[in-house]
Amino acid sequence: MIILDGKKTSSDIKDEITQEVLQLKKDGRKTPHLAAIIVGNDGASRTYVGAKVKACNRVGFHSTLVELSSDTSEKELLSKIEELNNNNEIDGFIVQLPLPKHIDEQKILMAVDPNKDVDGFHPTNVGKMALNLPTFISATPYGILELLDRYHVETSGKHVVVIGRSHIVGSPMSILLSQKRKVGNATVTITHSRTQNLTEITLKADIIIAALGIPEFLTASMVKDNVTIIDVGITRVEDSSKKNGYRLLGDVAFDEVSKKASFITPVPGGVGPMTIAMLLKNTLLASKMNN
Ligand code: NAD
Repeated sequence: MIILDGKKTSSDIKDEITQEVLQLKKDGRKTPHLAAIIVGNDGASRTYVGAKVKACNRVGFHSTLVELSSDTSEKELLSKIEELNNNNEIDGFIVQLPLPKHIDEQKILMAVDPNKDVDGFHPTNVGKMALNLPTFISATPYGILELLDRYHVETSGKHVVVIGRSHIVGSPMSILLSQKRKVGNATVTITHSRTQNLTEITLKADIIIAALGIPEFLTASMVKDNVTIIDVGITRVEDSSKKNGYRLLGDVAFDEVSKKASFITPVPGGVGPMTIAMLLKNTLLASKMNN
């Protein structure tokens, strides 16, 4: 069994980006600049955004964090987005989700200039992705493709089962892996909360992408031998033995499933760290494209 080490792979990618940034600077070109908008005080969101800013510093990007209070109106947020759309210093930016309930998330994501949409959430970019045209692929699916690629996990002709159909993970993952691309050409089954007899389907999978958000949902009896497992789930579960009071669990019962798997991602340290590395990769692409 081989662990798909997202922590190490994301660190390698960050080193590669650092080298590229040094070269850009040497050539007198613009230093990539990522901005992030966060609205409100959600603890997990703050941690994620903080990690993104830290990652920018590590690779030599400029970064700007725009912090808005939880009572910010939709109109105010839209005008901030317009400001970033028009600011030539900023190559790409993200709006950290979730947003407070009084703000229409879709309206906000539609307002981001597609050329600066490094999260790849704008319908223009989702459409390009679905048509297999060059674009910003959203960070989580992009990170999974990269992990499979760097560990030479064969996807061509394999049966991939995706569990979950969210817009940010399950749906794009199923589209990408079915496409004619280096990591792709798979026969994909997408499953969700209304799927019947899920175990019958997962037992036939060569590769399973678990993205449903139910801790340790996928057990050993649901998978065949030599399966490849990508565990996207991250759930905080109370744990008084930990300093911070919680531990992170994936959607896969790692201890038992790993015994049957040929490749598996751990949680934490699998898909999670890859997400930030791919956001940086998208920002580098935006910077090259926009300058
Ligand atoms: P979501 O809640 O938007 O979607 C969950 C999906 O799971 C739905 O499509 C639903 O139909 C499906 N589902 C629910 N119960 C099911 C069941 N019993 N059987 C089959 N399908 C079922 O979730 P999301 O935003 O895609 O996130 C999923 C998990 O991945 C969460 O734990 C989230 O925290 C995590 N996540 C991790 C990263 C990362 O970077 N590692 C990124 C995004 C999401």
